[in-house]
Amino acid sequence: MNVHDIVKKSRNAEIFSREEIIAMLALPPESLESYVIMAEASKISRTVSDNQAEIHAQLAVNLAPCPRDCLFCSFAVANNIFRNSVIISPKEAAAQACQFEEDGANAIYIMATATFDMGHYLEISREIRNQLRPETTLIANVGDEFAAKSSSLVQAGFQGAYHAIRLREGIDTKIDPTRRIESIRAFQEAGLAVGTCVEPVGPEHTNEELAEMILYTASINPAFSGAARRIPIPGTTMAERGIISELRMAQIVAVTRLVMPRSVKGNCSHEPGSVPIMGGANLLWAEVGANPRDTMEKTEEGRGHSVPAIRKLFMETEWQTLMGPSLFFDNLNRQP
Ligand code: SF4
Repeated sequence: MNVHDIVKKSRNAEIFSREEIIAMLALPPESLESYVIMAEASKISRTVSDNQAEIHAQLAVNLAPCPRDCLFCSFAVANNIFRNSVIISPKEAAAQACQFEEDGANAIYIMATATFDMGHYLEISREIRNQLRPETTLIANVGDEFAAKSSSLVQAGFQGAYHAIRLREGIDTKIDPTRRIESIRAFQEAGLAVGTCVEPVGPEHTNEELAEMILYTASINPAFSGAARRIPIPGTTMAERGIISELRMAQIVAVTRLVMPRSVKGNCSHEPGSVPIMGGANLLWAEVGANPRDTMEKTEEGRGHSVPAIRKLFMETEWQTLMGPSLFFDNLNRQP
């Protein structure tokens, strides 16, 4: 299959096979063929979202060592980065969320480490919800324990959840991948739209592994899919495995876009950058507070991007940014 066949198949909105996905991922990222796939993905992203990119913004309610020990995460107990627990007050969390809203974020994510108490999470979330405009999109980024009580998240005013089966889940983490699948199903059954992506990609992941994860994300009718590269946490064993380039990430983002049904409007990339936007990313993140990719307690002083900084990235690549609540998480817009 040459690249013209790939483009033709994409334009006919045909379904790509696992072997075709692997072949696209196997192209050198800097090859002409890979650039053609990126251009096609960008065209699809601009068409399905009417050239309106989205900026989603995340705050963390807590910072704590986490026993789930995902080796790529700065919160993992095994990584020994953070030894103390910090919980922000409902007032402080609401102030951060309101700042995101004022800056024009299209959705606000409330993150907690995997074993954070759900009652406390809901208390903080209710305060945030009360302070935000009613139409502002609120998304939960929480552990699997919360999934069984997803209806409480709906009652607290959440429209969606972010959840992913991470690459080599159960090998590089202490979480059974089946548990992650069950959680995604539980969120969706409760009425929460689920955003997901292929993450965290490192140089050791094979094209077969990536293809299988892309196909899984395509199978769940997500609010968005996409790809995120692994950020090495200094001093950890996983950091020794290295990092993929932004161009490789853009290639994976592009292949993901081609494989997703057109009903999925969002295609994310993390961390933010112009190169993945060129590969068809129309969703990037701003962050404050604790961040699993950062060793700073306040990521806004480290790796985190602000909403205005991301808007500038999109403007420099001829994107407009959506004003108002996320359309990616709009259930009506995600009907297959
Ligand atoms: S990624 Fe989540 S579950 Fe894994 S160690 Fe970090 S906080 Fe815990």
